[in-house]
Amino acid sequence: MTTRTVFGACPHDCPDTCALQVTVENERVIKVQGRAEHPNTHGALCTKVSRYAERTYHAERVLHPLKRVSKKTEAPRFVQVSWADAIADIAARLKAVRDPQCIQPYSYAGTMGLIQGEAMAGRLWNALGAARLDRTICASAGGAGLALTYGHKLGMHTRHFAGAKLIIIWGSNSITSNLHFWTYANQAKREGAKLVCIDPRRTETADKCHQHIAVLPGTDGALALGLMHELIRNDWLDRDYIESHVDGWDELRAKALAWPPERVAETCGITADEVRGLARDYADRDVMEAPAAIRMNYGLQRVRGGGNAVRLIALLPCLTGAWRHPSGGALLSASGWNAPYKNPELERPDLLAGRQPRMVNMSTIGDALLQADPPIEAVVVYNSNPVAVAPESPKVVKGFQREDLFTVVLEHFMTDTADLADYVLPATTQLEHLDVHTSYGHTDVLMNQAAIAPLGEAKTNTQIFRELAAAMGLTDKAFSATDEELAAQAFTPDIDLDLLRSQGWQPLPIPDAPFANGGFRTPNGRAQAAGADFVPNYESAQAAPELAARYPLAMISPPARNFLNSSFVNVKSLRDIEGEPVIEMYADDAAARGLADGTLVAAFNDRGRYVAKLRVSPRARPGVVNGLGVWWRKLGVQGSNVNEVTHQRLTDMGNAPAFYDCLVEVEAA
Ligand code: SF4
Repeated sequence: MTTRTVFGACPHDCPDTCALQVTVENERVIKVQGRAEHPNTHGALCTKVSRYAERTYHAERVLHPLKRVSKKTEAPRFVQVSWADAIADIAARLKAVRDPQCIQPYSYAGTMGLIQGEAMAGRLWNALGAARLDRTICASAGGAGLALTYGHKLGMHTRHFAGAKLIIIWGSNSITSNLHFWTYANQAKREGAKLVCIDPRRTETADKCHQHIAVLPGTDGALALGLMHELIRNDWLDRDYIESHVDGWDELRAKALAWPPERVAETCGITADEVRGLARDYADRDVMEAPAAIRMNYGLQRVRGGGNAVRLIALLPCLTGAWRHPSGGALLSASGWNAPYKNPELERPDLLAGRQPRMVNMSTIGDALLQADPPIEAVVVYNSNPVAVAPESPKVVKGFQREDLFTVVLEHFMTDTADLADYVLPATTQLEHLDVHTSYGHTDVLMNQAAIAPLGEAKTNTQIFRELAAAMGLTDKAFSATDEELAAQAFTPDIDLDLLRSQGWQPLPIPDAPFANGGFRTPNGRAQAAGADFVPNYESAQAAPELAARYPLAMISPPARNFLNSSFVNVKSLRDIEGEPVIEMYADDAAARGLADGTLVAAFNDRGRYVAKLRVSPRARPGVVNGLGVWWRKLGVQGSNVNEVTHQRLTDMGNAPAFYDCLVEVEAA
């Protein structure tokens, strides 16, 4: 028996980017664990990725190229074909598209790896002049808000939350989606810190905090303005910090003074005392003795005003001077810290040779597939499952059902999107390929070594795109780079690949208190407050009273604990824990509709109908239902998931989807 240990990195869309230790026995992975030596992983993985071996060896893995033999509106039927035939036919079909801009790549964070993500794929699309993809589906509203305010996606070190005396967890179910931050928050709690959770849903994280403030979805910006109102009225400001490091303060001050606690309470669906109390907790303290820290997550920016909400919250530590302490400040994303270490040429933008192909927003792929002019003729999907995850899925499904659309999907499993493909190509999992990773939660760079050879006939994404490039007659040296060479090209020389190979990670040199003396990454080094404002939801009593009268319940769709976006839904042991698709509803709302716990219900609006089991639960606040996602449609009830009812309108900045800005009514199904 031979046993070896291989170092890896978690590829999933999660801020923690854990360092993995993979045990291989007789060329089979028997264990995937978190590395104890990696400071941000501290030996623990979430339940999902602890089952990564089960996912890799899943009996339903796609292990051979498959070609569709049924109509797209019929039950999917595929036959196995050879790689040579699949690549030759796909290359010919893509070459037959007259305008390369009508070839649409579609990808996101199915892997966060730089190599199996866009390194080789981007080269192919650039060389062809294929349409570009605006990758907005998750984080771009908040990212744009941070960039406007701080100059980039920057924030505190996660580890320094352990030293805070007040932690506001804002729009995040950390226990589910940011587990390793939660370890630090717990440490702070044990040492006397107060934890406050702001979230429309009473999450598992809210259960463990000292206080839960259940705002209505999309009203976080109003709460931030209300907190500022109290800081100003009580003179809990660090005037020196504001004067030295903030632009636009007079404008912001005037806006905040228009938001007294009573107005905030009415808008947010909370009490004025909750606003006053939180402001007192946040600001009435010695910044150096009792630092206050805010951990935002992306849930709060999935609304029309998401970018502005992030701006306003990100400005709070600038008003109190909380940034002066390493354990004070805010964090939504740390990905801007690693940007200077990445090679902007990795995807070879020079291969575009001056062309500027059209840009299609991934968040409105439903409309794009049905309405783009000239029409999208071919789609190549990798690292994503748009039929399940993109908003307003009835339109996405209709788009992918077009018989004149040629669709290729690189996948591990027959997802909802793979079911609508012309070709499904078997891709490797993280255990079967090399990759390098940055993180948006911590500031280390990691390497993932292949632990085993590809299963069946699976190939790496890079190899599939290399072969397609060759079959399409592209001969640039860019397409012969090996994965090792791509890894070497991914970063500036500051990143030591030998260290990544031997240790598995390299920390970046980021100061402990990065903005203690200002130094934001804006052009003048000052945080920018001008223009930040509260923007109400599209679908709210304020903005659309007629719609709110017909569909009086707001619906949010936060992730189910054991799924990660739509990944892991087909891992039976995890799906068994989740049980079935669920809509959580407050008891009085259920009683008013005569709906009993455990019955099958439909959340519906003008866009569609999502069917799930009703759970009458204190996790839902009055007026809001929680549709936990993202189930695969075919594993859901009556082939539906939450995105049946979400819409394709975009956020105030960043062109992102406003998933949690969604009105529905609920009835017995
Ligand atoms: S999903 Fe997040 S918590 Fe789970 S192993 Fe990956 S990085 Fe770690």
